Amino acid sequence: MIATITSVPPPVDSSGDDRYVWRHGVDDYKPCFSSLQTWQQIRVTHPTVPWSKIVWFPQAIPRFSFITWLALKDRLSTGARSRAWGCYHVCLLCGEPDETRYHMFFACPYLFTVWIDLVGYLLGSRVNPDWSITIASFLSTRRKEIDTCLLKLAFQTTIYSLWRERNSRRHQG
Ligand SMILES: [Zn+2]
Repeated sequence: MIATITSVPPPVDSSGDDRYVWRHGVDDYKPCFSSLQTWQQIRVTHPTVPWSKIVWFPQAIPRFSFITWLALKDRLSTGARSRAWGCYHVCLLCGEPDETRYHMFFACPYLFTVWIDLVGYLLGSRVNPDWSITIASFLSTRRKEIDTCLLKLAFQTTIYSLWRERNSRRHQG
């Protein structure tokens, strides 16, 4: 340790005043702070998930994207998730005792009817009540760019609106 300390030259007045610098990357220091560069250095990166383009795209409405992101991560507090905390909730629209994400989007007969009415024109015979098949269809089927954009907007709007309606009925009678 003494050898390391003595190898560093002591400060001298001719070098000027001390100044702060911020690390922007490996061997890259600048006098300005960047929250982006700081975040890039401290974050843990993961591979991009295949469904990211369904959630995040330029025309998306942020609050719709956020709820869709929660749905895709299966983090919405559905009845099935509430059960773990000792609360029992059935589907308010059809009475199904197991209110899961899969039930809400779009296995529930009522909610599937809404989904068909909204995207039947765009999806045609490919409308399916199964969540996994619906997501796979978004990722695999080739469509015109405008149709893809409309479909993703319809998907997010439906999830947001149905989740909001469900919460409204659940919590405001
Ligand atoms: Zn239902």
